[in-house]
Amino acid sequence: MTAYRLVRWGEPPQLTEVPVPEPGPGEVLVEVAATGLCHSDLDMARMPGEVGEALGWRLPFTLGHEVAGHVAALGPGVDGPPPGAAVVLVSPASCGACDACRRGRDSACPHGTAGRGYGRDGGLARYVTAPARSVVPLVDGVDPVAAAPLTDAGATAHHAVDRVAPRLEAGSTAVVVGVGGVGAFAVQILRARTPARVVAVDVDPVRREVAAGLGADEVLPDVGALAGLGGAEVVLDVVGTDATIAAGLAAVRPWGAFGLVGAGGGTFRRPWFGGLPRDAEIFTFQGSSIADLHAVVALAAAGAVRSEVEEWPLSQVTAAYAALARGGLRGRIVVVPDDGA
Ligand SMILES: [Zn+2]
Ligand SMILES: [Zn+2]
Repeated sequence: MTAYRLVRWGEPPQLTEVPVPEPGPGEVLVEVAATGLCHSDLDMARMPGEVGEALGWRLPFTLGHEVAGHVAALGPGVDGPPPGAAVVLVSPASCGACDACRRGRDSACPHGTAGRGYGRDGGLARYVTAPARSVVPLVDGVDPVAAAPLTDAGATAHHAVDRVAPRLEAGSTAVVVGVGGVGAFAVQILRARTPARVVAVDVDPVRREVAAGLGADEVLPDVGALAGLGGAEVVLDVVGTDATIAAGLAAVRPWGAFGLVGAGGGTFRRPWFGGLPRDAEIFTFQGSSIADLHAVVALAAAGAVRSEVEEWPLSQVTAAYAALARGGLRGRIVVVPDDGA
């Protein structure tokens, strides 16, 4: 089968031929329906070798960590879901055995630095294998092609909103800074799970239009405009630069919460007065947990969350990444295996 692989550090990934994988003990073989493209893939293609090796990544590997498809075969010791079932694959890797995993906090598993599409073979191919614990059945009526972005962007947004939802009641304000893939899901999950007024901020007019279409009550062109809101109970910063962190923190009311989701390289400052909201919670995390994907799939089945996707064939994957890098997209790019791939 054809697979889009990172072959050598610092070089562009390539479409190459590889054997169809066999599911090992405890694994499921999945025929890929679609794989979402993520900005982090572009970073991986530029990553210095010593960084990848420190994470335990092995070259070559197939990219693609937002995978949806159908069960093709079950490895030894696995009793479901049955072949043909539509599934999505949990994007973050976790061991299933450590203290964090046993408590259901698998997003904090210390053994998850290498996973499907980042250090191991991912979904930009016709077939991929996955540990059975990371296979989540799709509820009837959810299209696997549109569901692929739920696995990372959707589940990450759910992880953030789940944490702050208890703080949001009628009359509360929740702000989402940056309405790309993750932010667009955050707007929808806030709408579905809380009665808060949802304010979305994005410098891109196309993304502001998308946010309004997804149910944001108010859209703002930049974080400078947050000062006019009169405070927010929750700010989720999906950008994470110095400018968004400073403006986001300044907008949080006392006893509110600020979630740093984006990895824009910004830092916190703690001056003697005025730098951080009083008695507020500031939290951060990486990825999502298995429970987040189950929850976001249920929201999608209920029609509360939808993802706009733009389909590209696997044979055109290089052009698809170029489109992702250019930006200005209305939906998430998903890559679909095509004939011969
Ligand atoms: Zn991703
Ligand atoms: Zn673990």
